[in-house]
Amino acid sequence: MLGAIVEYHPHDFPDGVKSNGAIAFLDRDGVLNIGRAGYVNNTEQMVKLENAGKVVGDLRRLGFRVCVVTNQSALMRGLWNTETLVEIHNHLRLQLLAEDDDAHLDVIITCPHRNIDRCNCRKPMPGMLQIGDAIFRKKLPVNIGLNSEVDVSGDYPKVNWWKNKPKPSDDNDLIVGDRKSDLGAGWAMGLRLFKVPEQVGIDYVSDRVVNFDDRGDSFQPVR
Ligand SMILES: [Mg+2]
Repeated sequence: MLGAIVEYHPHDFPDGVKSNGAIAFLDRDGVLNIGRAGYVNNTEQMVKLENAGKVVGDLRRLGFRVCVVTNQSALMRGLWNTETLVEIHNHLRLQLLAEDDDAHLDVIITCPHRNIDRCNCRKPMPGMLQIGDAIFRKKLPVNIGLNSEVDVSGDYPKVNWWKNKPKPSDDNDLIVGDRKSDLGAGWAMGLRLFKVPEQVGIDYVSDRVVNFDDRGDSFQPVR
């Protein structure tokens, strides 16, 4: 079985900006680009949402690393392959950068699995966030290159959804998503959680994600 697919493009912060130590985890469909009932299957179907580039730029101007985490089970269903995925992502990167020069995505992590694959990376499982955390906090050997795969099955502690929300690696880590599964994965990592309507995406929380006093939405994974 495929592991999670990591596209690693770390980029310097804008001039005069230093890392604030935190990671902004962003869902893709319904957050950065228009989601579709099926999948985004090709570059023509990859259409950025309004102001998504500006908000990603704002996060980087504040010193966040930006890590996209996306479930794309079309891969394991055999509808298309990793090459298509990378083309679609390159198209997204270009659209974001066309809107804002600072809107770099440091890493995009994709879970290719279906529910029946019972992986640890398909959200609400936190495997992709654990990979992002490990990359930026040097817990993984950073020999991660483009399109390398990381198998997270069994390597990480199991989530106890009934306990209190865990402590995050960094108090300002956050996730933006349009589904409960995004919030679940973020909850499992102790993140600040921001839910957005899929028609609006990240612009819906443009003022909130840059405000460190905003501790995010409350969420109970098992109620
Ligand atoms: Mg989504």
